[in-house]
Amino acid sequence: MKKLLLIKYGELTTKKGNRKTFIKLLVKNIQSILMGEEYQIHYDRVRMYIESESLEAIEEKLVHVFGIHSIVECYQVHTNMEEISSSLVELLKKVPFQTFKVETKRADKSFPIENLECSRQLGGVILKNIPCKVDVHHPDLTVKVEIRREGTFLYVREIPGIGGYPVGIQGKGLLMLSGGIDSPVAGYLSLKRGVDLECLYFESPPHTSLEAKNKVVKLASIINAYSGNLKVLVVPFTKLQEAIYKNVPESYVITIMRRMMYRIATEVVKRRKLKIILNGESIGQVASQTLDSMRVINSVTTIPVIRPVACMDKLEIIEISKKIGTYETSILPYEDCCTIFLPKHPVINPELEKCIEYESRFDYETLLEECVSNIEVISLKEQKKDEDDLL
Ligand code: ATP
Ligand code: MG
Repeated sequence: MKKLLLIKYGELTTKKGNRKTFIKLLVKNIQSILMGEEYQIHYDRVRMYIESESLEAIEEKLVHVFGIHSIVECYQVHTNMEEISSSLVELLKKVPFQTFKVETKRADKSFPIENLECSRQLGGVILKNIPCKVDVHHPDLTVKVEIRREGTFLYVREIPGIGGYPVGIQGKGLLMLSGGIDSPVAGYLSLKRGVDLECLYFESPPHTSLEAKNKVVKLASIINAYSGNLKVLVVPFTKLQEAIYKNVPESYVITIMRRMMYRIATEVVKRRKLKIILNGESIGQVASQTLDSMRVINSVTTIPVIRPVACMDKLEIIEISKKIGTYETSILPYEDCCTIFLPKHPVINPELEKCIEYESRFDYETLLEECVSNIEVISLKEQKKDEDDLL
C-alpha cells in the first residue's frame, strides 16, 4: 500500500481551451512552493499525484496554492478485492468512527464488479472486522474507493484547497501596499484570481519610520505564501510629499498626494511591463475614497485600477485579514505617509480644475521622475535586494 496525495484541480477544469496552460502553471507554482522538499509529481488532465516521504509538510504548503480544489490523502493498492479489503481494514483501524458508508467509483470498466455491489462487499468486510454501523445518510466517515487503470485508490480524508486560479495565469499587476488592513487583503484576493503581484510602497523618511517599512515587507511576505514570487518596490516619497504640503491648500493635500501616487504607479507599471494597478480602496471609507474623489484621482491614469475590496465592509475585510494572517501585523501602530500631517477637513468632492491649478504651482514632474528612478527593489524570493533589478 503506497500513500500519496491526490490533488483535484479547482475552477480551471471548466476552462476547456486553456486547461493545458492552467495545469502547467499550477504544476510550476506547486514546484516553486515546494522548493526544498523531496517529492515526485505526476499529473494528467484531471488530477495530480504527489509522492514523498514528507507528505505532511507538503500538505501544509499546498493549502496555500490557488487552483487546487482539494487535497486527498490516499492510498494506492493493486486492483483486486483481497488487497482492497485488507488495506481498507488496516487503514480504518486507525480512524475513530462509529458509522460509515462506502462509495465506489469504477473508472476502469474492465473491473468486473459494479459500483454498488463493490461497496456492499467492502462494507461487509469492514463490519466484520471493526465494531461500527452502516449509515448511508449521515455517516461519520465516507470511505471512497476509486478503481482506475493504474490501480485502486482508497481515501478517507479530503482537505479543501483554497480554489481560485493558478497565480500568474493573468500576468502581473502592481499592488499599492500600505501597512494597513485593506491592501494586503486586496493583494490576497488578486492572487486568488490568478493575478501575480509586485508591491509598491511609498515611504517618507524621516516622517515615516524604518519599522513602518519593515511592517509592509512583513505583510508582503505573509501574502507571498500564496505566490512565492513577490517583490516590494519602495518609493522614496519624502521630497514630493513635502512639496505638496508646501504648495497645495491643506484640504487638497491628500487628493493631490494620491494623484501623485497613481502617476508613479502608472510609470512603474509601464517600465516593469505589468498590466494593471491594484489597491485597497473601499468606497466611502475615507475622504479620498468617495466616488467624487476616486474620479478625480483616477483621472491621471489610463491604466485599469482594480479595487478588490471596493464594495466590502470593513468588518468583512478584517475577517479575511484574520483568516490569511495579516491582521496582527496590520494593526501595529506605525505611521504611514497617508496619516502624517493628516488635514483636519480633507475635501470629499474635489474639483479637477482646482487639482490642476494646484499642481501647476510646482515642478512635480522632476520630483516624480526622481521617485521612480530611486525605487529600491526588495525581492522576497531570495530575501535580498535584487541588484540587477533597477528600473
Ligand atoms: P489600508 O487601506 O491598506 O488598510 P490605509 O487604510 O492606511 O491602509 P488608505 O488611506 O485607506 O490606506 O489608502 C487606500 C489605499 O491606498 C491603500 O489600501 C493602499 O492600496 C494605498 N496606499 C495608501 N498608502 C500607501 C502607501 N504608503 N504605499 C502604498 N500604497 C498606499
Ligand atoms: Mg483603507
